[in-house]
Amino acid sequence: MARILIVEDNPANLKLATLLLTSVGHNVLLAADAETGLALALSDQPELILMDIQLPGMDGLTATSILKADQATAGIPVVALTAMAMKSDEEKSRLAGCDGYIAKPLNFRELYIVIDELLGRPAAAPTGSGGLVTVAPPEADSLQPTSAGIDERWADAFADDASVLDIGILQYRVGNDRSVVLDFLETFQETTVVIAQALVTACVAGDAGSAGAQAHKLMSSARAVGAVELGNLCAAMEAAGRSNRIVSLAVLRDPFETELARVNAAINRVRESVRSSPKSSTGDQQRAPIETGSQ
Ligand code: MN
Repeated sequence: MARILIVEDNPANLKLATLLLTSVGHNVLLAADAETGLALALSDQPELILMDIQLPGMDGLTATSILKADQATAGIPVVALTAMAMKSDEEKSRLAGCDGYIAKPLNFRELYIVIDELLGRPAAAPTGSGGLVTVAPPEADSLQPTSAGIDERWADAFADDASVLDIGILQYRVGNDRSVVLDFLETFQETTVVIAQALVTACVAGDAGSAGAQAHKLMSSARAVGAVELGNLCAAMEAAGRSNRIVSLAVLRDPFETELARVNAAINRVRESVRSSPKSSTGDQQRAPIETGSQ
């Protein structure tokens, strides 16, 4: 198994990548910005780097160009992570010297396929030389909720309303390991408390710009856990924030808080289901806190 550096500023995405990599035995190094990532790449010589493209300060493509220009790090394969699945991003990633490309939100299959391919390459193979390892986007069908392979108590936790928490989306992203799914959901709860408070405060204060920025952060986290309706509300709030529609923000605040409470209640039911299931031997395990890179 490999040592992999993840450079990602969104805590939920960082957590998902960490869970997915550590659950198959990789060791991870974490950085929340490009500058920290560059320093870690140089000092710790990871065997692969997952590089978010949109980062505060230096962006991920610039960081990749710097890594590829330095002999000490040029041989480390870099996989670009981008939120916008656009052809132009793929092209830019290739030009910056990336070796692989994954469109976010992350899902476990795509991540494992791209990483395995890059780690399996002979050491002598030149990196950043053009061939971008990527995986075709999934069929829409694979995002549909499915109850296959789920026992009843587990499925019950998701049964109320698939738009609150969609187990199909969760499984597509994270896989079927309940402790991993629960860990991911609990991280969502922990990280969204602060963002949601900031969003509500910004709405109350009529600070449209800040509300839009917070709504954007929450939207990606919500969609990553399959909280479909919450993600839609956040998208509406982000749009309202961007266009300075303070009244729309005020109107959306209530439905947002209601939906967030429904999502949290659904996650609490999942937790109960995992902890109370006699078949589950993993539900009560306490994971060590995930180390986060310095800012
Ligand atoms: Mn980012």
